[in-house]
Parts: sequence; C-alpha cells; structure tokens
Amino acid sequence: VQSTRDKEFDPLLEFRRFLERFQTRDGVAKYQERIRHMVYMNQRSLVIDFDDIILFNRELARFISENPDKGLEIASQAIMEIMRKSYPEYAQTVEKFYPRFRNPPRIFRIRELNSEYIGKLVALEGIVTRVSRVEARIVKAFYRHVDSETGELHEFFYPKEGEMGERLERPPYCLNCQRPVRLELVPEKSKFIDWQKIVVQEKPEEIPPGQMPRSVEVILTGDLIDVARPGDRVIVTGVLRVAPIASLQKPVGLKPLFSFYVDANHVDVQQKILEEIEITREDEEKIKELARDPWIREKIIASIAPGIYGHWDVKEAIALLLFGGVPKVMEDGTRIRGDIHVLLVGDPGTAKSQLLQYTSRIAPRGLYTSGKGSTAAGLTATVLREKTTGEYYLEAGALVIADGGVACIDEIDKMREEDRSAIHEALEQQTVSIAKAGIVARLNARASVLAAGNPKFGRYDLTQPVSKNIDLPPTILSRFDLIFVIQDIPNKERDRLLAKHILEVHSDIEKARPHIDPQLLKKYVSYARRYIRPQLTPEAKKLLEDFYVSMRMASLPTEAGKPTAIAITPRQLEALIRLTEAHAKMALKQKATEEDAQEAIRLTLNTLVKVGYD
Ligand code: ADP
Ligand code: MG
Repeated sequence: VQSTRDKEFDPLLEFRRFLERFQTRDGVAKYQERIRHMVYMNQRSLVIDFDDIILFNRELARFISENPDKGLEIASQAIMEIMRKSYPEYAQTVEKFYPRFRNPPRIFRIRELNSEYIGKLVALEGIVTRVSRVEARIVKAFYRHVDSETGELHEFFYPKEGEMGERLERPPYCLNCQRPVRLELVPEKSKFIDWQKIVVQEKPEEIPPGQMPRSVEVILTGDLIDVARPGDRVIVTGVLRVAPIASLQKPVGLKPLFSFYVDANHVDVQQKILEEIEITREDEEKIKELARDPWIREKIIASIAPGIYGHWDVKEAIALLLFGGVPKVMEDGTRIRGDIHVLLVGDPGTAKSQLLQYTSRIAPRGLYTSGKGSTAAGLTATVLREKTTGEYYLEAGALVIADGGVACIDEIDKMREEDRSAIHEALEQQTVSIAKAGIVARLNARASVLAAGNPKFGRYDLTQPVSKNIDLPPTILSRFDLIFVIQDIPNKERDRLLAKHILEVHSDIEKARPHIDPQLLKKYVSYARRYIRPQLTPEAKKLLEDFYVSMRMASLPTEAGKPTAIAITPRQLEALIRLTEAHAKMALKQKATEEDAQEAIRLTLNTLVKVGYD
C-alpha cells in the first residue's frame, strides 16, 4: 500500500496494465483476447466492461468517470501502445482506436440528469424516438492558399492538435507564412467522421403519471452510427455536455441557456422483450400457486379495472390481449403475429377510456395515447425537419414505441391521414416502413393494440354495420381480432346496479380492490408470455375448423342480397387460434384444449352479432 501511494498515479500506465493483466475468474486474459479479435476483425473499437476496471483498480475507474475526456484519451493511447507492440502492422493502418465503456455502475433515469454531472461519464436508459440522417462532421479541416509573392502553395490541417470543436473554425493567419490571408477549405482533403443525432426518451412505463416524457439528445459518431433504430430500448454510456440553445430572436445574441446532450461512447441495444420485469423465485411460487386455482381466469378478469361495473366480455378480451397468442415464424421467414388486437366502439360515457387507461397501467410495456398521437409522428412514424438546424430525422410514433408491449389507443377514429395507410402494415405485419427525404427504414411495431372509438353520429346505430358507425375503413376493422359494440341504453335494473356500484366505489375505494394485486398480475402475465407456448389439441383444432366453415357458409350473400359488413376470411380463423391460445395461457396451460376453443368461439360470436357480420 505504501509503495503505491508514494508513486504518482499514472492513469496511462494503469490503463495499460489493466488491458494487459486483467483476468476473468477462470483465468482468461479478457482484453488481450479482445484486442487480438479486433485485429482479426479489422475493428477500431474495444468494448470494455466498466465493472472490470472497478475490480482491477478503483482509483482508475474513478478517474475515468470523473474525467472522461482525459480517460478516453489515455485509454485510446493505451490501446495504441499495446497494438504497436503486439501487432505493429495493424497499428500502422489505424489512426486512432476507440475504447467503448459498457455498464458503468449507475444507470441514470433521464430526469435525473442535471448540471452536477456536466463533463462526467454517465449511463442512461431509455427508448430511441428520433434518429437523424447520417452526416459527415469535420474533425480536421484542410486549408490552403497561394502565396501572392512566391506563388507557393501553403497547405495545412487545422486544428494542429485535437479535433474541431462545435463550430467550423478558421485560423486568422496562415500557419505556414503567418500572414492574414484568405484561406480556402478543401473538403476532399479534410478529415471527417460519420455523425448522427438520436433522441432518447424515458420508457413509457417509467413516466410518472400525468407527466410529459423527458428526453435527451445523444450524438453518435464513427462506428456507433445506425446502431439503434427508433423504438429500440438502449443503454447509452457517454459524456454529459451542454450546447448553447440556438436563438432565432433578434437582436441576435446568445442567451445564457444551454441544453444537455450526451456525447455517446457506447450504445447497448436491449434485444430481449419483457426481460425487464424481474421474477424472483418467490414470485414464481406465487404465480404457480395462483395457476392451480380452478377459478384463476375469472379472478384475473375480475382484477381488470375492478372499479368499472359490468363489461365482463370486454374485460375478458383485455385479459386475452394481455396474455396473447403464440407468434409463428414460417420456414421462409414470414411471421404470423401472436398479438391480439381489440377494438371498442361505443357510446360516450361507457368507460372506454377508463378501461384503456387501466390496461396501459397493468400491461408490461403499456402505453396510452390518443389517435392523434402525442407527437408529430402520430401512431406510426414520420420524417421531419428540424426548424433551427435543418436536420432531417425519423421519429417513432406510438406503435413503434410500444414495441413488445400493449398500445392503448383512444379515439382511434381521429388518427392522422398518414397513419390511416401505415397502420394496416403496423397491425398485421407489425412493422412500420418509411421512405422519405433520404431516410429509409423499417421499424418494429410488435405491439398488441387495444383501441377505442366513438360512433360517427354520436350514438351507435344498431341497424347499421360497424363500418358505417365508425370512421374507419373495413380493411382496418378486419385487423382487429375482436370488436365490441358498447351501447348506453337505459335499463332500470342494470342502471340501478351500476349506480350502486359507482356509489359504493366512490364512498369506499376498498370496494374496487382487485382480487389479484396489480404488481403480481403484471408478473403473472410476463411469466406466461415468457414461458408458456400452448399447442392446440386435435379436438380444439376440429372445433375451430368446423366453426370457421359454418361461419363462411353463413356469410354467403342471402337471397335478400344483404352483404356482410366485414368479410369472414382466414384472418378470423387466425384470430380464433390466437384467442384459444391466449385462453390456455391465462391458466398457464401448455395445451390449448376444446374448453379454450369454446370460449374463443363464444366471445367471437357475441361480438359478431352486434358488429354486423350477419
Ligand atoms: P368513454 O371513454 O366511453 O366516453 P369514460 O371512460 O370517459 O367514457 O367514462 C366516463 C365516466 O363514467 C368515467 O368516470 C367512468 O368511470 C364512468 N363509468 C362509465 N361506465 C361505468 C361503469 N360501467 N362502471 C363504473 N363507472 C363507469
Ligand atoms: Mg373516452
């Protein structure tokens, strides 16, 4: 201890030692291995797990998180020194190596970032909502001029040391002849790096109720560009910096206001859906215990929005939507969704919005939005141009942000015109494709949709099919697995019961307490989605087959020639399969039996009658 304290702390030396000597528990020289791999793969970047540095030398780890600019520089030098020694030929071909730090001990929420951390190494977690086009950013400018007296060409790089800052700078003198002359920038000879700006937003489930999501800009350079797409959940490590806020006001002058951004060093894209809900051994015990209850399905359904009276079938549909069917991937790569979409169409004041809001809170990765969407990107995605900087960027809409979860879309009939065409693909293929202003992308939108809409003419008209009642084309309607028509018709007995229920809930919140605690229900749902993949038994298959054929026969135009509002197509058969699977999943069954198929058929029939399939 004494000897290390006496010696001056030399971060470069320490970092080199770390790379050369760090060993994993089973004795592997991890970074020697990775460096060898870099040479083999012709890479410039070395990913370093921050935990390893902490294990090796706490002081070094602290130095890097407190002085990341210096830390990154010395880490880069250390890699270069090792490369020069061990792989001199490869080192010759590379101008600079990049250390990439992964997993620092503290991961910030975006709303925790503040001026205390400016200039520090931070890691933050969120969801990518915007991605700009890739641009080239100058790091060393090449300037030249012809000496007017001698006719000589004077050429030089600027800045001599380090890289170009926030603005394109031009030295006031020629660095060769020291005279103030007109310097010409030569882009072809200047050095550039690829540059991209993304916006990372808080995860929808982490936003405190009633608050707007916060976001932060993140700058990606070099091999970090295009690593993340809108909708991806990421952990970004980087240096927190500030940039002056561009002011368009006159008189032109900078305000003393700066906005935060993160200069990214590493981006980890989280692949696994639903992994973020932790299920402990104890939870697992409780979940299995619940599943043994013969009334488990009824208890789950009753636990959905217990404050809302009635609507049993709607709640059952919501439960099925939460569990979902089993997605199928064919050999040729085509995918059939397992996600269940449900639409509620009905009179105002029938608790549609309440049901949606409740669902968004208990669903893993749940999100509530209106048909217009909360941003310009609406429900799918859009390409926009930023006014102050002129940069083009791709922004994700609600269905992309809800990827892997449940999107609750209220007033879906009010969606943007662009969404009306794009939502077909989003609901069925569960992707959003966009090609605009040089940005071409296909984003994932693997979400279940619970949507609600109001009747076009104020009240639902039962004499008309659903497509006449709501401002949505049949092509969109047919993509919903179940459509519920909710009518508000006065009925003495029912109204009295409803009034009693509402009055009770209002006077005693305990009355609306769910059978199953919402946190446990959330875990139960994630457990089922993760581990249960029910298979249809032959009897269940036969039942669905017979039902489908009889529906097809019944939907033939009758003699009266009355056409059906929505054609019965194989899509409805797929919907029935999903509902059957979801019903089995609800009880954690690996087999979907006749009982499950029967319930799927019952719900489908109940909704079809009102929707106007005839
Ligand atoms: P919608 O979105 O269908 O127009 P809301 O969800 O805004 O209706 O509901 C209006 C109000 O009426 C809410 O406060 C809701 O709790 C209440 N309400 C409507 N139907 C019921 C019901 N069946 N049970 C309990 N409360 C209800
Ligand atoms: Mg409403």
